[in-house]
Amino acid sequence: MDTIIFDVDDTLYDQALSFKRTCHKMFQNSFTDEELDKLYITSRKYSDALFDRNVAGEITTKDMHIIRIKAACEEFGLTISDEEAMEFQESYVEEQQKITLFDEVEEMLELLYQNNVQLAILTNGAEGHQSMKIKQLKLERWVPKNNLFISGAIGHAKPTREVFQFIENKLKLDKSKTIYVGDSFDNDIVGAKQAGWQAVWMNHRKRELPMNSYIPDNVVYSARELMELFCKDYLPVK
Ligand SMILES: [Mg+2]
Repeated sequence: MDTIIFDVDDTLYDQALSFKRTCHKMFQNSFTDEELDKLYITSRKYSDALFDRNVAGEITTKDMHIIRIKAACEEFGLTISDEEAMEFQESYVEEQQKITLFDEVEEMLELLYQNNVQLAILTNGAEGHQSMKIKQLKLERWVPKNNLFISGAIGHAKPTREVFQFIENKLKLDKSKTIYVGDSFDNDIVGAKQAGWQAVWMNHRKRELPMNSYIPDNVVYSARELMELFCKDYLPVK
């Protein structure tokens, strides 16, 4: 039987929404909506790079939080202090306590669960913080506790081979029948393909496919397309 394993941030819910709400609160009208979209993408670029340094023990989590928003704002001509960056992070965490699944993702998880597809979660980040989001999204409705994997608790993070191997062992997976779904090309698609799994790129931000790299088995551009991909056999014929 196939096992489908999902990333969390910006795959199952719209991470930009909580980011933008925080920006509205912190920076009032400093950015247009279009600029906020770009600021979000820029902040993710810094976040991913700093996360790797954090995992390597080169910088603290607090510094990661400060630097990623400061550096992103700087690119858009806004200089903020360390204190403002920390305030931003606090406010961002508050917003993340209000996140909700994409409607179609909720429908999809319910259908997959009803049809006995084995489901799991693999997310990068600190155990406490990622657990909070998993709880807020009520993923335990469909994913058993033993199938929830957080890099901070495992000691290895995506895209390393070790984290995928860890899950293979834990769930006794047949890698050719294991599908990973994520929004980050470098962490999710490269990581899963390197591990020999199938990979579905949830590219709802419409990023460009990098050249000379791994090719995802499927690319979807919205939560609706993701649901249709996995649930075509379970959906009523229109
Ligand atoms: Mg993600």
